[in-house]
Amino acid sequence: MVKKMNVESFNLDHTKVKAPYVRLVGVTTGVNGDKVYKYDLRFKQPNEAHMEMPGLHSLEHLLAEKIRDHLDNVLDVGPMGCQTGFYLAVLNNDSYDDIIKALAVTLEDVMIATEVPACNEVQCGWAASHSLIDAQAIAQEMLNERSQWSIVFKEE
Ligand SMILES: [Zn+2]
Repeated sequence: MVKKMNVESFNLDHTKVKAPYVRLVGVTTGVNGDKVYKYDLRFKQPNEAHMEMPGLHSLEHLLAEKIRDHLDNVLDVGPMGCQTGFYLAVLNNDSYDDIIKALAVTLEDVMIATEVPACNEVQCGWAASHSLIDAQAIAQEMLNERSQWSIVFKEE
């Protein structure tokens, strides 16, 4: 038995998951009853595939900007260091279905985007590392598997 770690995803067996998927990581309730829902948006199969940084970075900008057009109370969209997905944190929305729908329509937005938002040296920390084409390829691949997003684990 592996020692229980502080970070939820360190306790997740990454050999048992089946990407792409959308997984509720956990819910944190504040002292006033507000709830933060954290999701694992897994685009690539762990230890088998990953996103290259320019496409991942552009997709991060696009998701962060455009998902807020479709979903209220988005706190954060951030890439995983392993380059296989993103974390999404949302305040006071317990609907998994809302998340799925918002992600799908946001990825559709990505497919028709003509530029990456904020990819300049004033608004971004590595403005040279972007690729809209690669971001769109990742988005398309994710959209193609939409019917599978709610299935997180491989069949035994
Ligand atoms: Zn950036």
